[in-house]
Amino acid sequence: MNDRSFHVEPPGLESLVQCPLCEAEHLRPSLEVEDHTVSHERFQLVDCASCGFRSTSPRPAAQALGRYYESDDYISHSNSSRSLGDRLYKLARRWALNRKHALVAQHRPHGRVLDVGCGTGEFLGHLKRKGYLVTGVEPALKAREQAIAHHAIPVVPSLDLVPGLEQFHVVTLWHVLEHLPDLRGTLKRLYALSADQALLLIAVPDRDSWDAAYYGPDWAAYDVPRHLSHFRRSDMLRLVSSHGFELVAMRRMWLDAPYIAMLSERYRGHGPVMALLRGVLLGAWSNLKSAFTERPTSSSLYLFRKSAR
Ligand SMILES: [Zn+2]
Repeated sequence: MNDRSFHVEPPGLESLVQCPLCEAEHLRPSLEVEDHTVSHERFQLVDCASCGFRSTSPRPAAQALGRYYESDDYISHSNSSRSLGDRLYKLARRWALNRKHALVAQHRPHGRVLDVGCGTGEFLGHLKRKGYLVTGVEPALKAREQAIAHHAIPVVPSLDLVPGLEQFHVVTLWHVLEHLPDLRGTLKRLYALSADQALLLIAVPDRDSWDAAYYGPDWAAYDVPRHLSHFRRSDMLRLVSSHGFELVAMRRMWLDAPYIAMLSERYRGHGPVMALLRGVLLGAWSNLKSAFTERPTSSSLYLFRKSAR
């Protein structure tokens, strides 16, 4: 289904008046980016003149955001596997699930896990089978219902509805923080929900990656207006460490570049096969750049620990 009827009634947009990170009030327009997956509307990115943090602004108001997730193509929240690209993505996801579990288990072999933006619950279902006690947060109704039905896990629609304070030993946000409008409010809530020494894992696209620079406004990981924040390493460290967490490790994420490059090639007009070929090649190039220089990969993974009080 490709419902374009919302074009008739433009959504309520709201502009940032200050930087979500440092609260400076001077925001400069930078790139203009098209929403390639749902609305095909164009959105402005702005950079903070003081700290350089990049945001999507104007952005849909909270009540208008939902419609920008209404697409069969937005596979993070669905389980369709039609194209070769989608099937490869699912294969990669299975591999990634095992990697994610290994990473969590290395620091916390058991305990209570909160996954924010859990989608259809694959990660939490996987951890549950490994013996963890799991809870999910997922605002999208269909994905939430699927997570509950398929994995029999508790999933609530928002972070505010997660019961209990200071109880989670592991909190994860896999490609979620960039979607959330209130960064500081979110970090405060995560701090309150975390047990002492809790592990906080955050994965986000990294706009300092080679593929981000190469594709510019066509970089698929800008994904406006769903992505509201566009992080670099320095942004993430500033945000999270100012909310009571200390950095344990930063990891490169090798699987994202080929997928993001393939999507970016599609946005540049290449057919599926050519986009896949070019995406694999240019994604590999981005990964090589990262492996041999200081550049981050297309996405970065951060491990933080709740600081002792
Ligand atoms: Zn700033």
